[in-house]
Amino acid sequence: MGRLRRSRTHHARRDVSRAARTRVRTKDLDQIQHDIDHSRKKLEKQPIDEDKPGLGQHYCVECGKYYETDAALRTHTKSKVHKRRLKDLKEGAYTVEESQRAAGMSAPDNRQRGVEDVVRRFGETGVASKEEAFAHSAPAPKA
Ligand SMILES: [Zn+2]
Repeated sequence: MGRLRRSRTHHARRDVSRAARTRVRTKDLDQIQHDIDHSRKKLEKQPIDEDKPGLGQHYCVECGKYYETDAALRTHTKSKVHKRRLKDLKEGAYTVEESQRAAGMSAPDNRQRGVEDVVRRFGETGVASKEEAFAHSAPAPKA
């Protein structure tokens, strides 16, 4: 019979193992990033909701979690779990764009670089100055 349990499963990274399960699914990092940018004020001052823990009055925006009491929320903001979340948010959420860039699937960039420059320099002033420009760029022969 093989091993029933992976070793070293008792480490302190509680938020990591909790993020992987679906029973108490919290918001993902990109959703929280959106909350912080757009609706932080609204989430910190929510109307009383009997269905939410602590009537929805003690909410940690960064973690997307409700707490029963103000004391619990304050303890949480000092906790390792919360600080790790702040660090993760600082690094930024993993986005679809980033995954596509990693897989080389981003939109192809076929723009010819420098074409505008050449057109601007030679297109308006005509052929004469074009030859002049080439003469300047080529190494000048000794007279
Ligand atoms: Zn938190």
